[in-house]
Amino acid sequence: MKCTASGQPPANSEESSVPTSEKLEDGQFKDHWVLCEMERSMGYVRPVRTKYIHEKCGSITTMGRVIAETYARDPSFYGSTFCCNCHGYFPVGEHGEFIWDDDSKEKVGT
Ligand SMILES: [Zn+2]
Repeated sequence: MKCTASGQPPANSEESSVPTSEKLEDGQFKDHWVLCEMERSMGYVRPVRTKYIHEKCGSITTMGRVIAETYARDPSFYGSTFCCNCHGYFPVGEHGEFIWDDDSKEKVGT
């Protein structure tokens, strides 16, 4: 069961990578899937972090709280994330292109 970051009903089915195919002017999708509040409330396995660095360009992107909480509950929930400088989505995970903007320098999605 997935919920939307916006709290709005999704236009797409849960099998789709995003709840709506609509994009904002900067190229980011208008809405994203998140774990529902009940699932998120079951406990985090990572800290809640909202800023990450795209290693390719060095820019910092800030994400919304519910998406950050979804990463904290289930680090492998997303396969990619947005860079506000490159205006696109790039891979996360062990071989991904992003690290958290904190002392851990952990890869986003691990
Ligand atoms: Zn970038």
